[in-house]
Amino acid sequence: MAQEQVLIFDTTLRDGEQAPGFSLRPAEKLLLARQLDALGVDIIEAGFPIASPADAEAVRRIAAEIRRPAIACLARCHRADLEKAAWSIQPAEKGRIHTFIATSDLHLQAKLRISREQCLEAAVDAVRFARHHTFDVEFSAEDATRSDFDFLCRVVEAVIKAGASTINLPDTVGYSTPDELRDFFARVRERVPNTDKVVFSAHCHDDLGLAVANTLAAIQGGARQVECTVNGIGERAGNTALEELVMAFRVRADRMPYHVGIDAKQIYPSSELLTRLTGQPVQVNKAIVGRNAFSHEAGIHQDGILKDRRTYEIMRAEDVGAPWNPLILGKHSGRHAVQRRCSELGFELEGAELVEVYRALMAIADDRKILTDNDIVAVVSGVRTKQPTGQEPIDPFDTPAAAGHHALHESGYGHGV
Ligand SMILES: [Zn+2]
Repeated sequence: MAQEQVLIFDTTLRDGEQAPGFSLRPAEKLLLARQLDALGVDIIEAGFPIASPADAEAVRRIAAEIRRPAIACLARCHRADLEKAAWSIQPAEKGRIHTFIATSDLHLQAKLRISREQCLEAAVDAVRFARHHTFDVEFSAEDATRSDFDFLCRVVEAVIKAGASTINLPDTVGYSTPDELRDFFARVRERVPNTDKVVFSAHCHDDLGLAVANTLAAIQGGARQVECTVNGIGERAGNTALEELVMAFRVRADRMPYHVGIDAKQIYPSSELLTRLTGQPVQVNKAIVGRNAFSHEAGIHQDGILKDRRTYEIMRAEDVGAPWNPLILGKHSGRHAVQRRCSELGFELEGAELVEVYRALMAIADDRKILTDNDIVAVVSGVRTKQPTGQEPIDPFDTPAAAGHHALHESGYGHGV
């Protein structure tokens, strides 16, 4: 099946960096931009130059050094913003000006205090002005999903005529549902003339935890550029997580036959670099890049993983460049998993010795959440240096009567679903 290309527009350095606690210095932004280049994103949105001289400098340095992806930067529909944006991307091989204005009545009245006609005029002026500086102009209708549909279509038609080549329809406040957003993109593309000559783009926020689902739905509606960030960082609850989107395409290519130019093995290194530079940890259960994403504690799961990884894994940690530490030892772990980890640490245990070590570890695990390698080393050393007492520890499950129970004990307890 021929796969259609979906462009990955990374806004980690703009929308992501805008979030509280995530600000980066120009040199740090450059480091991350190099990693995004290695990751294979098509467009790097490097900053919002009018926001600060440091941001303008960061965009310009990235534009001067990173040659393969297009380098974009953000500008409101104001002359000063657009001039600063043009200056910032001037050294780029492929520079893009991304200009935006809100189109919802709520934003026009409460925030911008302008009429719809003034909004339309500002949008067209901005796109025309940007086109004097670069052929690659993206226009965003901020709060598009809460805008009056007819007015939004007028704006989109006018900015296409003025020369915009990418039309972004953001779900700025994360309000949409997937089926709604799919229809929204399809309806705009159907209603407005010449939409086949531009690329439609989705920019979703995760306020209801629907950003990735909404982005996938927008693609079904005809979007061919997706805006996303590493680790899903961004304003409030964040943006669409790049790693989740990319792996959804990869794991479920049967349902979503789209090509993205991402080197998935660079996903984890990108996540790690961002975490290191910002000092903001990723939640442990975060899909794809969280510490627990490829780990298993429940004994039944661990037993399955040791026999065949596909029992509880739909993708491999190696596929995204992450280390694979599948067996988290805790009170739900079984003896197989304990034996395996001990062996990896250089202790071959069986029989009575294994039973004794297992019991001692489970006693510790009752008090604590996770057993560390240090716990294991300490317990094994303790058991091995103990004076022989002449008494073998008794395994209550080693009796024939307990054979049925034994199988369960081997694989441990914990939930199986
Ligand atoms: Zn945003």
